[in-house]
Amino acid sequence: MPRPIALLACAAALAGAVPAAAAQAPVVWIQAGHQGPREPGYRAQTGAGSGPFGSEMAFNERVAASVVRRLRSKGVDARRTPGLVTPWGAEGATFVSIHHDTPDGSAAIGHAIFGANENWYHGEGGGTASPVPYGDSARHRKATTVSRAVERRSRALANRLSKRFGRIRTTAFGAFAPFGGVVPRDGNVRMMRFYGYYRTRAQARILIECGAGTRDDAFLSRTELIGAAITGAVVEDLRARGLRG
Ligand SMILES: [Zn+2]
Repeated sequence: MPRPIALLACAAALAGAVPAAAAQAPVVWIQAGHQGPREPGYRAQTGAGSGPFGSEMAFNERVAASVVRRLRSKGVDARRTPGLVTPWGAEGATFVSIHHDTPDGSAAIGHAIFGANENWYHGEGGGTASPVPYGDSARHRKATTVSRAVERRSRALANRLSKRFGRIRTTAFGAFAPFGGVVPRDGNVRMMRFYGYYRTRAQARILIECGAGTRDDAFLSRTELIGAAITGAVVEDLRARGLRG
């Protein structure tokens, strides 16, 4: 069978020589939650004022930097975005928003869902989340859509991250608040109807609350451990989607 093998080898060589679009590094957006400049309608939401670095924002920025550095070392085109999703409608394979919760909160992972809308608040982000605008809600930028396929991919990524996160959220690593895993579809609207899902066109969109400020401070101080878990889940997910060899 020498001839077919030679043909196959030739075809493989040709395929390798063509700089196909598929060979481009996948784009992954990493958002440090609440980092300025912030999104219109949510500018007053500056994050929890707790955690091992004095504020949620300081924690989010450390983890985001870790994830971006790690993803780039694995050949992923990782890009940062602040609270104001930049550019609007950012295209890519994946969007991950990084947060930690308030001292009485917990760790959990949310994702984009089909058939829902983002939350509205009073003014620039005050009061209770509402599915429709209040009379005094600040104007929002235009929303992107979440298809059924985006929901499916987002949930798959959330599940992968939940498995990895569950392994490191141990008392040995200083985690004491509960870990709720992936939030159900009709669960916490702050996490399931997060505005960030509606400012990107990424094919999978998730948000992680890494823990509770104060109770989980020892765990939250391990930003490289957390960064490695998020990176591992994102890369595993890209591979499963055939976006990375
Ligand atoms: Zn937050």
